Amino acid sequence: AVQRDNLKTFAEENLRLLKDSRDNAQALKEADVRKDEFLATLAHELRNPLAPIRNGLQILRMSPEGPRAEAVRGMMDRQLTHLVRLIDDLLDVSRVSRGRIDLRKERMRLQDAVQAAIETSKPLIDANTHSFTLDMPDTALWVEGDLTRLAQVISNLLNNAAKYTSEGGDIRMNVKPHDGQVDIEVIDNGLGIEADMLPRVFDLFAQADRHLDRSQGGLGIGLALVSKLVEMHGGTSRAFSDGSGTGSTFTVSLPLVDEAGGAIGKPLQKA
Ligand code: ADP
Repeated sequence: AVQRDNLKTFAEENLRLLKDSRDNAQALKEADVRKDEFLATLAHELRNPLAPIRNGLQILRMSPEGPRAEAVRGMMDRQLTHLVRLIDDLLDVSRVSRGRIDLRKERMRLQDAVQAAIETSKPLIDANTHSFTLDMPDTALWVEGDLTRLAQVISNLLNNAAKYTSEGGDIRMNVKPHDGQVDIEVIDNGLGIEADMLPRVFDLFAQADRHLDRSQGGLGIGLALVSKLVEMHGGTSRAFSDGSGTGSTFTVSLPLVDEAGGAIGKPLQKA
């Protein structure tokens, strides 16, 4: 009987190993498919802006002056901004996954990061003639942060708001200090986010299934970077939306410090 039991255990163990290796092979296969899909999207995204830039150059060669030329230059500027952002994000994400992003933190005014972000995102917001309003207190809001990285966080949120909100939409940004922290809200009244997508928006390569409509573009990197960088600043990132077509709100909370650099509030809870 003991021998039979041993045999049975042995067979069961073998079956389990076989199943595990099948599961592993399946997981590898799926990862491989995802990688292929990602590479195809990446090639597409990098190539997309090049055709209009090339056309623009041709137009400028023929008629370098006048309002049309101005419009063409604006378009080329936007396409290049988009391309640079894409490549920067790509570089950053590989640095983040290898744990190679170093923050240059200093005591800084959050307002400076906000202004820098607005400056960077202006071409995208203006491109679709969105209305943009900013509600931010004048008194200095001190944070311990990396100015460039915080500007990148805010600008990623603004870019998304512009990207996922059609022409004529409203984008609002509220900066609200309370209880030793500051909330930065970016609110749009655009496409919104479906409930099943909402918990995944900060995941790397997460993109809502928009059925082959790639007009919104992107690689699904921006928000993963936002969440990582905010975390590295001791803050939290959250997304809110009631679903399709109702707009979205993204809130980043950061700990405030006093003018001398000491923490004002209690440490932020992880959301
Ligand atoms: P990307 O925009 O390159 O796809 P992100 O990481 O910036 O990648 O965003 C991930 C996904 O979250 C997007 O593909 C989109 O589906 C959704 N998303 C992000 N911001 C918004 C927004 N303001 N409105 C609607 N959907 C959004």
